[in-house]
Amino acid sequence: NQAQISQAHRNQTLAATVPARGILFIVSAPSGAGKTSLVKALLEQVAGLVLSVSCTTRTARVGEQDGVHYHFLDRAQFEREIAAGAFLEHAEVFGNHYGTRAADVNRSLASGQDVILEIDWQGARQVRTQFPEAIGLFVLPPSIAELERRLRGRGTDDAAIIARRMAQARDELTHYAEYSYLVVNDRFERALAALTAIITAERQRLAYQRPRLAALLDPLEA
Ligand code: GDP
Ligand code: ADP
Ligand code: 5GP
Repeated sequence: NQAQISQAHRNQTLAATVPARGILFIVSAPSGAGKTSLVKALLEQVAGLVLSVSCTTRTARVGEQDGVHYHFLDRAQFEREIAAGAFLEHAEVFGNHYGTRAADVNRSLASGQDVILEIDWQGARQVRTQFPEAIGLFVLPPSIAELERRLRGRGTDDAAIIARRMAQARDELTHYAEYSYLVVNDRFERALAALTAIITAERQRLAYQRPRLAALLDPLEA
């Protein structure tokens, strides 16, 4: 009838002006497992997906740019932002502060983009309290020995830092069961394909599709 048709029309108009919210993905892994390399490759091949750029107090590695890899803040700046409530989550990792600004994440999700957070397990826990629907992915190294080889091979950290990261890697690994998906980064291309498949599957879910397919689905209710 006419009322239903105009309701469907309003929904369509709404769908066109207010984009459906994006999906929040959380990627965690012990340092050296390959999450940064995998996420970088993922962003190059999946459209509509953005990385949340974290804030950190650690010093930039050679090649890291402020605002691209991290927002590099000093402790005082970071603590001011904590006090102001700017962070969706923040945690102390390897003696440095790391955190995700809430405003950046909310803006991207509201615009309909899917967002990836590359954060540790402590941060993941905090995010789940506000976004219980966030999808958790945990990247595993094929072995502990291979993890250490990769950290050394990356050539960005000195021996003391590598030792510290290896010690924390076991701790990070014990939290694997807090994530919905486990991806082993053995062969890089295989792990990348697995991550892509997860994102593709999550995007076909009913809750995600319904608002996006309003033009097709709403008339069926009439
Ligand atoms: P990498 O993982 O070896 O490349 O080392 P990073 O220095 O980039 O990251 C150190 C740790 O901080 C990792 O466990 C990350 O998951 C974590 N981390 C990075 N960004 C964030 C963030 O915004 N929030 C939280 N909670 N952890 C983060
Ligand atoms: P994370 O961000 O988890 O600390 P990175 O992405 O920096 O890890 O990767 C650590 C090192 O391991 C880098 O030198 C990277 O090139 C290498 N690496 C990543 N994935 C693989 C893989 N599947 N096989 C071999 N080396 C890898
Ligand atoms: P790196 O210093 O090697 O870049 O990162 C070390 C660890 O910090 C990684 O395991 C990474 O996941 C974590 N990390 C990076 N950014 C954030 C963040 O914003 N929040 C939290 N909680 N952890 C982060």
